[in-house]
Amino acid sequence: MSDETKVENPFHTARFKPPRKGKKPPKLLAIVHQSGCTGCEVCIAGCPVDSIELVPGPDPLNPGYQQMVEIDLARCIGCQNCSQDCPWETITMYQHDDAFIAWGNETLASQLYINESEVDKIKDDVAG
Ligand code: SF4
Ligand code: SF4
Repeated sequence: MSDETKVENPFHTARFKPPRKGKKPPKLLAIVHQSGCTGCEVCIAGCPVDSIELVPGPDPLNPGYQQMVEIDLARCIGCQNCSQDCPWETITMYQHDDAFIAWGNETLASQLYINESEVDKIKDDVAG
């Protein structure tokens, strides 16, 4: 991942899902170590707040090949289901503040969080 500041992708469909309830952030957040993720989708089924998203593989004609998942840190409630369910043990729970550092180290491809400059570019493209 580049060093550029990452922001929530305002155009991702996850942004239309209900926001996390409560004012306090959860103590723990789940991070996918994407290099070990097989894209099997087991974790998605067990997430009570539907905060795990697929990252399609690089071939647009076959997006299911080499897909991975990522977790919406803005919506994860830290329940630990996914870290217990993953057959490949590739999701780890981190203390809230440590999770963002781990995300930077463990994320190979994200669609939920993008470079600030990409947001501006998409806005410009939409505006024509
Ligand atoms: S810890 Fe719970 S809420 Fe967070 S992504 Fe995993 S299953 Fe979903
Ligand atoms: S269960 Fe594990 S390997 Fe399967 S998609 Fe989720 S993180 Fe990836």
